[in-house]
Amino acid sequence: MKSKIWLSSPHMGGHELNYIHEAFDQNWVAPLGPNVNGLEHDLEVFLKSGVSVAALASGTSALHLALIECGVQPGDEVICQSMTFSASANPIAYLGATPVFVDSEEETWNICPEALETAIKDRIAKGRKPKAVIAVHLYGMPFRVEEIAHITEKYGIPLVEDAAEALGSSYKGRYCGTFGRFAALSFNGNKIITTSGGGALVCHSQEDKDKAVFLSTQARDQAPHYQHSHIGYNYRMSNIAAGIGRGQMEVLLHRVSARRAMHDFYSELFDDIPGVVLHSEPDETYYSNYWLSAVLMDPETAGHTREELRLALLEENIESRPLWKPMHLQPVFASAPYYGGKVCEQLFHDGLCLPSGSNLSDEDRERIKTVIRNVFGKS
Ligand SMILES: *Cc1c(COP(=O)(O)O)cnc(C)c1O
Repeated sequence: MKSKIWLSSPHMGGHELNYIHEAFDQNWVAPLGPNVNGLEHDLEVFLKSGVSVAALASGTSALHLALIECGVQPGDEVICQSMTFSASANPIAYLGATPVFVDSEEETWNICPEALETAIKDRIAKGRKPKAVIAVHLYGMPFRVEEIAHITEKYGIPLVEDAAEALGSSYKGRYCGTFGRFAALSFNGNKIITTSGGGALVCHSQEDKDKAVFLSTQARDQAPHYQHSHIGYNYRMSNIAAGIGRGQMEVLLHRVSARRAMHDFYSELFDDIPGVVLHSEPDETYYSNYWLSAVLMDPETAGHTREELRLALLEENIESRPLWKPMHLQPVFASAPYYGGKVCEQLFHDGLCLPSGSNLSDEDRERIKTVIRNVFGKS
């Protein structure tokens, strides 16, 4: 059996273990310490825009704390892009609130401005003004930042950016993760950089960050004994995981270049294949980290469904995956309101994510190329 080619796998830079050894030498084997502070600092320097960053256990916990800081309470409603990973929406349910899902637009595959405004107006008319809007930079592609921010500002609703897949992406030269009232980053094993598991909440004031750190460390009041006036969480990042993160931050821009080179590889590969469209930046204002390269296949023109391509790749031990199944089509969210048409449903129907790791070799690319060219009857 040929070795497995993954969709996206961890890719160490080489210095991660130095930070971990340092943590062991100083006995900072705990969910606090120099690597946690260091990683937060590295992210603040990288993202610019004067942000304050709290390192957490996961991207999901970052979204949960963002919603708490936005004041989401049981019975409230929160708008969320339907086309996304379930972790974007689950924190709404953790809080006993209701998700209201919104369709995507065809260019970025992210939340559609028109459908978003329709949803906001209708919920307000029903006396249920949404408490927050969660927009996602899917596969690293920035959402329509200006239009979405304009709408959320117009109605005075905080924008929460799910930038879990988009570290290193930017819009008009400004990094994703700096546009919302809050943003969530993820360092899960399959993301563009990893801490094995981890995430971060990007804030725009020290006060918001301090509140996130307070909540993530069991909400202890200032007292010599354990005193609590709030419900807390155990969401802080481990100093060992943060050590991996510090090593990964050293190579982040290289990882972005390598993922973008994978996108170039597919661009050339599909250039002469009709009916297959590679998901690409709409214009030069968008800069994607191309965390995952993805294609849309029109079965009639392409002569194959995305499932046929997936199975042909699998046959050669190459992993690929359909796009995210929209949340409003998930059994668990079947009763949630939905606004929009069938754009995200169609994307799910026709879309496939292809191996995109920054650590793929020329040999791996050759194997991928051979399968794809064969499927479409090209040499
Ligand atoms: C990975 C991911 C998350 C969750 O991040 P974790 O660190 O795995 O909790 C949230 N949203 C999106 C879009 C993601 O891809």
